[in-house]
Amino acid sequence: MLVVMKQHATEGQVEAVVEKIRSLGLTPHAIPGAQRVAIGITGNKGSLEPSLFDQLPGVAEAIRVSQPFKLVSREVKEEDTVIDVGGVPLGGNALAIMAGPCSVESREQVLETAHAVKAAGARFLRGGAYKPRTSPYEFQGLAEEGLKLLALAREQTGLKIVTEVMDVETLPLVADYADVLQIGARNMQNFSLLKQLGEVRRPVLLKRGPSATIKEWLMAAEYIVSRGNYQVALCERGIRTFETMTRNTLDLNAVPVLKSLTHLPVIVDPSHGIGLRAHVAAMARAGVAAGADGLIVEVHPRPEKALSDGQQSLTPSEFEELMRQVRVIAGAVGRAV
Ligand code: PEP
Ligand code: MN
Repeated sequence: MLVVMKQHATEGQVEAVVEKIRSLGLTPHAIPGAQRVAIGITGNKGSLEPSLFDQLPGVAEAIRVSQPFKLVSREVKEEDTVIDVGGVPLGGNALAIMAGPCSVESREQVLETAHAVKAAGARFLRGGAYKPRTSPYEFQGLAEEGLKLLALAREQTGLKIVTEVMDVETLPLVADYADVLQIGARNMQNFSLLKQLGEVRRPVLLKRGPSATIKEWLMAAEYIVSRGNYQVALCERGIRTFETMTRNTLDLNAVPVLKSLTHLPVIVDPSHGIGLRAHVAAMARAGVAAGADGLIVEVHPRPEKALSDGQQSLTPSEFEELMRQVRVIAGAVGRAV
């Protein structure tokens, strides 16, 4: 349930509603939003009667939330969430462009890529220091050394750092370096990790699980938000289907569907979505046309030498060309880059 306060409700009236919610053994959540003061309620087993709240002084209305995901739903918060990543918006009218290597491999590789993607218009540098690899014999990432190289790239370029955190154990360390904590597809339903992310005050990029439904994905986001961290963006990165010609099937249906169901920003990852360098740009353009709030694209100065995902990494010049096209499409759908 969502309790919406009248425009001129006093702090005391808001506090009385919060107290009433607590007295019923339920949990109140302050819903951020410029337009109105609203309090979300979770913890109820069945549905709640609006009359419990709509007669209280200062209350405009009490609304039942029909979706199982509550705090991330548009029903509870109409306006788009815009995450402030140290002065760079994630969400809102301007597209958030994230680019960089799949893995941080060396000082030269990460710095060269960072300068190139910045020159092309990216505001975020992506790069994994902890890599979830299908095979234990493949490159697992540089760990803290990789985080330090990302921090150096941030120092030189001003780009915000997006990097994956794989487990609860390394979360404090990764959070020390990252501007945005990426949760990989394989970890979308790692509930203990999600709970911990709810406690850190850091933006989170929650990738979709390879076979997660949109509802399961939103419930995963709800885990984080319900513990007080509203800074969550969703990332469509392709799902597993019967198709074998492409690495995954980029589910662009998810973009407009999510935009109607949730106020959280939606980012598209065309690199993992299709897995083929020649077609990444097409899917990136399609993602923007479909209404995504940003892109995350793998870029490597020498893709043929990459230690992971070289086959889907753009060269810096391919990325630059993609950015030219993205600007045109963004303009056509009323977005800025
Ligand atoms: C990645 O971004 O390099 C990655 C491992 O992505 P995903 O979790 O979507 O497979
Ligand atoms: Mn990758």
